[in-house]
Amino acid sequence: MIPYGRQEITEEDIIEVKKVLCSDFLTQGPIVPKFEQSVADYCGASHAVATNSATSALHIACLALDLGPGDLLWTSPNTFVASANCGRYCGADVDFVDIDPKTYNMSIDLLTKKLIHAEKLGKLPKIVVPVHFAGQPCNMLKIHELSKYYGFKIIEDASHAIGSSYNKIKVGSCAHSDITVFSFHPVKIITSAEGGMALTNDKNIADKLSRLRVHGITNDNSKMKKQHENEIWNYQQIELGFNYRMNDIQAALGLSQFKRLDQYVKRRHEIAAFYDSALKNLPLTTPWQATGVYSSYHLYTILIKFNSDFKSQKHVYNELRKYNIASNIHYTPVHRHPYYEKLGFKKNDFPVAEKFHKEVISIPLFPSLQDSQKSYVVQTLKKVMNS
Ligand SMILES: *Cc1c(COP(=O)(O)O)cnc(C)c1O
Repeated sequence: MIPYGRQEITEEDIIEVKKVLCSDFLTQGPIVPKFEQSVADYCGASHAVATNSATSALHIACLALDLGPGDLLWTSPNTFVASANCGRYCGADVDFVDIDPKTYNMSIDLLTKKLIHAEKLGKLPKIVVPVHFAGQPCNMLKIHELSKYYGFKIIEDASHAIGSSYNKIKVGSCAHSDITVFSFHPVKIITSAEGGMALTNDKNIADKLSRLRVHGITNDNSKMKKQHENEIWNYQQIELGFNYRMNDIQAALGLSQFKRLDQYVKRRHEIAAFYDSALKNLPLTTPWQATGVYSSYHLYTILIKFNSDFKSQKHVYNELRKYNIASNIHYTPVHRHPYYEKLGFKKNDFPVAEKFHKEVISIPLFPSLQDSQKSYVVQTLKKVMNS
């Protein structure tokens, strides 16, 4: 089976991981801070806090921005459930802003309209989580402008988008947000097996993130609440946190992979360009890129028109499988999951994302995809669309 995405592990990666395995520290050693510093420098952010997943990074990001019961978090319905679940972990209510039919990202128009309406109702969100779908950055300048006017905080879910930029600004710089989160799951751009990272330019937020990642513990004397002359306090727990640490084995893999980030994104662009031209004459929609954006191309999505003379999404998806191509669907809109329907969301609440979901298929795109494999994908698609 050719998957829609997969990791590439090199000899170099194995050597770096092995070094940690043979060292004094498997966790809480020197490699995690090294990985954090490298990513922060690359993105142009002041602080980076590595975690055991993007999901935990999103959770503590919400807490660091004081999200709690009675508050509202808005995100895109066209995302992985974690972008919304982070709000629920904090006891906040979650709502969605439908997507733009061209970028498949949260629609700026609909966000603006929803904010105007919410202000009248006195129900403005505390946090908005834009998701850079497939690696294409959202219009962060516009969202940032709206945040200044309406007073909400921004967490970029950039799980797809390390290596992306807009107007030459790197995603992760937090130039137009409070916090940006990356994922290092194996299907993402680079991997640490499991792992995530939260970036910010705010020292207080960074401190809070670092603390929440280790049980709410501090070893900074100035932050300790109890000072006793004759007691030894190496650390104090000053709030309730979690064990969300990344370990040094993961960081060694992540850091080694990170050295190939730009090369990986370049390769993804080459494959995307090949698909763009090879699929041009088929009755399907290939990804559209806004001007000024450079996508990491985490996904290559094609839209199969439903109810036309052409084949349905399901037909294409199933036929591709018969030919050993494991395409995937990104995403079932979050509000359509049973958990979210139980909270009151229903079909047709976000029609653009729902229409997109009925047409979309992610076809194989990853750096180690062979030229023969990408040609095979195109040939098979042609065959399937005509069968
Ligand atoms: C993968 C992903 C996550 C979760 O990442 P983990 O590292 O697996 O926790 C969150 N949001 C989006 C958009 C993702 O694609």
